[in-house]
Amino acid sequence: MMERFDHFMARANAAYYAARDPFKDFATAPEMSQVFGELIGGWAKVVWEMMGAPGPKMLVEAGPGRGVMMADMLRAFGPAEVHFIENSPRLRAEQAKHVPGAIWHDTLADVPERPMILIANEFLDALPVRQFVRREDGWMERYVEGGTYVELPAEKKLPDDPVGSVREVNEAAAAFVREAARRGVGLFIDYGPEQSATGESVQAIRDGKYADPLAEPGTADITAHVDFAALARVANVQGPVKQNAFLTALGLFQRTDFLAQKNPEKAEKLRLAAQRLTAPEAMGSLFKVMAVCPPGFPPLPGFEA
Ligand code: SAH
Repeated sequence: MMERFDHFMARANAAYYAARDPFKDFATAPEMSQVFGELIGGWAKVVWEMMGAPGPKMLVEAGPGRGVMMADMLRAFGPAEVHFIENSPRLRAEQAKHVPGAIWHDTLADVPERPMILIANEFLDALPVRQFVRREDGWMERYVEGGTYVELPAEKKLPDDPVGSVREVNEAAAAFVREAARRGVGLFIDYGPEQSATGESVQAIRDGKYADPLAEPGTADITAHVDFAALARVANVQGPVKQNAFLTALGLFQRTDFLAQKNPEKAEKLRLAAQRLTAPEAMGSLFKVMAVCPPGFPPLPGFEA
């Protein structure tokens, strides 16, 4: 069977999230510190008022993992109707433990059309990318057959990059962000450059280590850097800003100190997590935060500068 690379990636990741515990393979921000979700819950509370408190409060999260970020958010936000976009049955069961009463959907299209705030941390990076390689005769698109790459002439028009260049195009992420922007306000946190760049960013993590993305599909988490500049072309956005600037503006260090003083047994873990989330050589600078909102919307918290 020959499969276009993005179709391969979609299938491999669906199998991976259905069967594996991703949090054995990588650590995400909400898993490191409860403060991460609490700050975003406080952000959403302010933003809901900025939207004019348009009816019953509705929070939507895409790719909620174990559901801990939403549980932390709700403590700061207060009661809300919670919708989760998740297609792994295993993770849905895990999420139900942390957020009883949530409502699950396979796609954003299935979520009822009402004003909402949507949040997604490390979700867009898991969506499938198409990969193109520039050869002497023009652009080729990558397919997968029998565990190796095969190239066929590309049907997509791409910039005239030097021979050997690789371009990744995330059509699924663009469609998702466009739809989120149409429905309300969205906050996307993920890793990727500020400017679109050539080069291959697809990576696979199996058992906590880098692995061949094509080997044993379904046993590794396959991700690609998020091309924020490409997403900014399909929706009205604020940012992206670096994660450290965003979290610091929202009060990461104050909230961490407050909790550390109240809970000395958690103090060291909380302080280390705050460092890791903001240090440029850790997650502070490669991770970006970008919001989508209606055109003309005033500056959102964390994006004022
Ligand atoms: N946001 C969580 C989990 C990140 S892992 C955290 O920060 O800890 C990626 C999440 O996205 C998982 O919950 C995975 O099951 C989900 N996911 C990946 N691809 C998806 C898709 N196409 N549709 C819905 N959910 C998806």
